[in-house]
Amino acid sequence: MATSNPVIVVGAGPVGLCLALALAQQDIAVTLIEQLSDDNFLDQVPRAGSNHPATLELFDRIGLYERMEPRGIIAPKFAYWDRQGGTRIAEFDHAVIKDDTKFPFVLQCERIKIIEEALAMAKAHPLIEVRMSTTLTGFEQDADSVLAHVTNAAGESETIRGRYIVAAEGARSIVRKDLDIEFEGFTYPERTLNIEVAYDFKQHGYSERNYISDPVEYSNLFHWKGPPDRWRIHFPTDPNEDETALTRPEAMQARLKGFLPISGDYQICGCNLYAVHQRVAKKFRVGRGILAGDSAHVNSPIGGMGLNSGVHDAFNLADKLARILRGEADENELDRYERQRRHIAVKHTQAQTIRNKRLLEERDPTVRRRNHDELRRSAEDPELARKFLLRVSLIESIREAEQIP
Ligand SMILES: Cc1cc2nc3c(=O)[nH]c(=O)nc-3n(C[C@H](O)[C@H](O)[C@H](O)COP(=O)(O)OP(=O)(O)OC[C@H]3O[C@@H](n4cnc5c(N)ncnc54)[C@H](O)[C@@H]3O)c2cc1C
Repeated sequence: MATSNPVIVVGAGPVGLCLALALAQQDIAVTLIEQLSDDNFLDQVPRAGSNHPATLELFDRIGLYERMEPRGIIAPKFAYWDRQGGTRIAEFDHAVIKDDTKFPFVLQCERIKIIEEALAMAKAHPLIEVRMSTTLTGFEQDADSVLAHVTNAAGESETIRGRYIVAAEGARSIVRKDLDIEFEGFTYPERTLNIEVAYDFKQHGYSERNYISDPVEYSNLFHWKGPPDRWRIHFPTDPNEDETALTRPEAMQARLKGFLPISGDYQICGCNLYAVHQRVAKKFRVGRGILAGDSAHVNSPIGGMGLNSGVHDAFNLADKLARILRGEADENELDRYERQRRHIAVKHTQAQTIRNKRLLEERDPTVRRRNHDELRRSAEDPELARKFLLRVSLIESIREAEQIP
């Protein structure tokens, strides 16, 4: 049997790493298990990267923000566009929430950069034992402890003991399956095609972050720091078309030029196709096994809320586990974690990302016009704009969670 730290965290994604760092900062020792090795940890598909103000405050708490800022783009503004006619509907400026947060902007910094910096911090922390190339295969629990069964870096079976195990190993969580927790929700029929291009969209008036509504082909367009600087553009795809056809260079060029014609070809730097799910685990905790991040909830990336809300789970849970382990609170705190964070997953993250997609893909011209008028009104009125930004910056959801007993 291997070392015994009180908390075992499975998965060195953004959620597992933030949880481990937030616990260690409160003097709680952690064993962090990651299936990837040092050699392939950074070879992961591009994913999240829009980090909202509420999340930046949390990154700041563990000293991660200062490592991320130089690697990202500060984006105070974002815009909604109508592709029919190519007009900007509304632009929102986070400056209106400058009295609500130290970070009145989004930091465009990709998941891979966040986990690279956070992993380096975790490895340097004396209270975090990082076990790379170690895969969780199952776990058991009794009244006092958990036993995590892993295949270690040497390819051997090993058991690690702890008092709690936190599943931060993503949407295909083994812990969630072992606990027999239903992952309620649905998967959209269409997959999303993400194309990365080295092209300066700012010269056409685009902000760093853009949501483009269209009844035929809505999209999102985001700017990322290079070198080379890249823009990521997402399109919905026909469920009947296969991946090879969708990602043929000529097909992607045609799609990009349909969006914005340019002379010559776009310089495509990469692409990937992914399915989009809306699912929330029925429970976030069974005994000593606790879910956080994508293992507990997955949602459409429109609005960039998956990573953000997962990181919020991590900090909420870290504070509660630390209090329990210091003897200042009992395990009812873990039920409170579930009440707070599951409420946010259903009522905020899921509801908002479903709304975001509907807004962009709306086909009824009357509803489209009404939606666009409402966005315009919100952006032009400082009080409405503040309300809107408190919601999309996830400050409102953190405040609301705190009120749940
Ligand atoms: C294309 C795309 C774009 C996105 N854009 C955004 C965005 O802009 N903003 C946003 O907030 N969210 C976005 N998301 C969602 C975001 O990527 C996820 O919500 C976030 O990465 C979840 O973090 P996590 O730590 O819970 O899990 P993950 O990031 O999935 O990390 C899980 C970790 O666990 C490890 N692991 C898995 N199984 C095991 C095992 N058995 N044993 C040990 N280790 C294991 C994995 O190797 C991985 O390192 C996007 C998602 C996609 C697909």
